[in-house]
Amino acid sequence: MEQTTKNTIVSLKDIFVRFDGEVILNHINLDIHEKEFVTILGPSGCGKTTTLRIIGGFVEPESGDVIFDGKRINGTPPNKRNVNTVFQKYSLFPHLNVFDNVAFGLKLKKMPKDEIKKKVTKMLATVDLKGYEKRSVSKLSGGQQQRVAIARAIVCDPDIILLDEPLGALDLKLRKSMQLELKEIQQKTEKTFIYVTHDQEEALTMSDRVVVMNNGVIEQIGTPEDIYNEPVNAFVADFIGEANILNGTMIDDCRIQILGRELECVDKGFGKNTPVDVVIRPEDIEITAPENGQLVGTVEKLTFKGVHYEISVRCGKCEILIHSTKSAEIDSEIGMRVIPFNIQIMNKLLPFYDNVIEAEVTYSNEGENYFEFELECETIKVENKYFPQGARVKITLPPEALSLAGDGIGDLKDVYIESVVYKGEHNEIILESDERKWLMLSDTDEQVATYVPLAFDFSKAVFEVVGNAEEG
Ligand code: ATP
Repeated sequence: MEQTTKNTIVSLKDIFVRFDGEVILNHINLDIHEKEFVTILGPSGCGKTTTLRIIGGFVEPESGDVIFDGKRINGTPPNKRNVNTVFQKYSLFPHLNVFDNVAFGLKLKKMPKDEIKKKVTKMLATVDLKGYEKRSVSKLSGGQQQRVAIARAIVCDPDIILLDEPLGALDLKLRKSMQLELKEIQQKTEKTFIYVTHDQEEALTMSDRVVVMNNGVIEQIGTPEDIYNEPVNAFVADFIGEANILNGTMIDDCRIQILGRELECVDKGFGKNTPVDVVIRPEDIEITAPENGQLVGTVEKLTFKGVHYEISVRCGKCEILIHSTKSAEIDSEIGMRVIPFNIQIMNKLLPFYDNVIEAEVTYSNEGENYFEFELECETIKVENKYFPQGARVKITLPPEALSLAGDGIGDLKDVYIESVVYKGEHNEIILESDERKWLMLSDTDEQVATYVPLAFDFSKAVFEVVGNAEEG
């Protein structure tokens, strides 16, 4: 839930950033409150570090406002902002000992010696490094070096500390203990921490609020509980923890159809017979006898995970994942039940009409039965179909008519893979070309944030003549 009672310390308003003509941050808005631990989370390349660098003053947005304490500070250099940054590479001074590393910024400020001593000693105690004052930083462990870097950032008393994957270089065990320590340091010092990571577990463990980013936009802002329990769309559900994401139809308020069965849910306001995405977390599925199940399926795989079993169940064409303390026999039939509260309904990521092209026939040959049209600077040839030159044709491509061209040629040469969400049956992939978004289905995993050639299978398309060129 939004903490409206807290004071806003930083606001990003409608921030737009482009690098080399490519949109990196697409009109983002974000308010961060005093003494808050906020984590910016998202896949590689989604714009997390750029957002942090905007706050730090290392990147200037093309448009939009950066507000600190109610004042617009665009153009203010980093050293004049009330922030300090901790990077993944700690950038400590190897020739200075722990004390002098932490004291460095205070000496620059020409603070009296005894005051520096008092502040540094107190800071080192806060980060649990009392007694390490004279130690060379090169003789410290990764975790200790990280704590020196944090102490150095906080001792100058900025209100805001920016942390860019600061635990990225540590091994898993140390990383876990440092996560808790960082949270403790933040609470003790009462600073605002803005933290960047691509690790969802890290974000959920430490943060008061999590900002989930994807492809230059903010998908959701909320407490870790909100983000996990009430994801706003299939991307967030898929990125945060494991989830069964299924295609469903909202029959009416509180009635959903999935996998051919009708179930009760608690969501309203989606209209009647609306296609939606349905999210069910693996731990929210109860195993029952087949006759008591709302859904019925066959156990395909069973793995013991220490605390629970991970059970993969085939349910028609779909695979459903269950986490349960109960075991189940491979090949046995089981029933599955989910209470209405644990069925999350979300609007589909993409309205289907984006797969519709309205084109003018630029060339056609009746004898050889084909026509051509222009799409985003490419000439596209449609075989086994004829329309006269100049005709305007609406071409509807169902998701299964799209594929990533294995031959590397494709109808459109470079489309961007924006997101890949596994839907129990296949991946639903959202692609972006110059002018539009596309929805396609695939059985293989594709790499998000890469460019691929896209091919159309026009034998699966639906054509409709909507006019001729003169009519517009
Ligand atoms: P990661 O987790 O991999 O660090 P990120 O979410 O922090 O990713 P950013 O570092 O913000 O992502 O980068 C977003 C996009 O902007 C990337 O495609 C990156 O290549 C591009 N980018 C970042 N800085 C620059 C720059 N100075 N010039 C050109 N492109 C840049």
